Amino acid sequence: MANKYLSHIKKILTGKARITEKQKFRAIIYSVALVHFFLAFIFGYYKVYPLLIFNVLSVLTYLSCTVLIRKEFLLPVYWITYLEIILHSFVSTICIGWQFGFAQYIIALTPVGFYICYTMNTKRRKMVIATASALCATASFLSCKLLSFFTTPIYSSRMLPAELPLYIFNSICTFVFLILFSLIFISEMKLSSTQLRHQNAILDKLASTDPLTGLYNRRSMDVFLHQALESDSGFSLIMCDIDNFKKINDTYGHDFGDIVLREVAAITMQQVGTNGYVCRWGGEEILILVSSSAKENAGRIAENIRRNVANHVFELNNKWIHCTLTLGIAVYKEGDTIEATITNADYNLYQGKRTGKNMVVA
Ligand code: GH3
Ligand code: MG
Ligand code: MG
Repeated sequence: MANKYLSHIKKILTGKARITEKQKFRAIIYSVALVHFFLAFIFGYYKVYPLLIFNVLSVLTYLSCTVLIRKEFLLPVYWITYLEIILHSFVSTICIGWQFGFAQYIIALTPVGFYICYTMNTKRRKMVIATASALCATASFLSCKLLSFFTTPIYSSRMLPAELPLYIFNSICTFVFLILFSLIFISEMKLSSTQLRHQNAILDKLASTDPLTGLYNRRSMDVFLHQALESDSGFSLIMCDIDNFKKINDTYGHDFGDIVLREVAAITMQQVGTNGYVCRWGGEEILILVSSSAKENAGRIAENIRRNVANHVFELNNKWIHCTLTLGIAVYKEGDTIEATITNADYNLYQGKRTGKNMVVA
């Protein structure tokens, strides 16, 4: 149980998990309540009764805040925490003076307040709330100082000889709050940017590929073709078309047709590998860009695709079929356009269709 809890905290601090709003608020009120619990003991020990009562009431208030958090009344909890910390600074300044460092908690309120407001899942004006409370904190901090300047504490330092330890305790608590919230803030930012990158990658894939086959779409191929046109190595194109595909659809159904398309695409991608790009050009037409102007390279790839498709058995619901491809190759020649090269590949494909299909024509 404790291990699970610790590993969750580790994940939050390293940006691998997101802390929920409720967890955030619980963490705040439990830690503030703990500080007040400790202070109640100290003030009880030194018989500073107003502060003892205040701290006991604070602990009770924070414990009852758990009910508000459970019911998702987070904004009231935010204000209660804010006001309690400010009020505690005033009461402690009046009772024991400024030098114990209780007003430091007010300074920590500002960044923590901005963070809490910014990440709060509310439609209300978060930044207005955060700025208003930060201004309120500034005014309270200065008022506390002025109060200490013009009044004498009820309890003298002789009655409470723990100025330095309490000052150090308050400073440590303030810094621990600031460090912890900064860490959580940074890890949340890290997590958000990781998620954003991940979503961008998904969007990128959706925008550049064909959902059925996973091949690049025409838009992506356009970019690759223009890049190839500008490269020095030249390029070749292979236009592929499934033979008698309409008959496959008509005989075995559109779903079987889709399977054939997907598997032909997979075989094509496997054979092309890193030698180029494969795109779904039209219904059952695939265009391959081979990053080489050597006809033999494109010829070898085209022949491997043709042979592998012809030898492949396509299966759906215990029906097995064979199908073939016809492929037309065109090598880009200096001075040609992309369109002319595509037309040449198309022409060769047409020649193949005319003279018997299931062949590569260069
Ligand atoms: P040929 O050998 O001359 O190429 O004949 P063919 O029947 O393959 O040629 P045709 O162009 O007449 O038929 C292509 C068919 O491909 C028609 C269309 O319904 C089908 N088709 C296009 N896109 C898809 C798809 O995404 N899924 C399926 N199942 N069929 C598709
Ligand atoms: Mg066809
Ligand atoms: Mg066709």
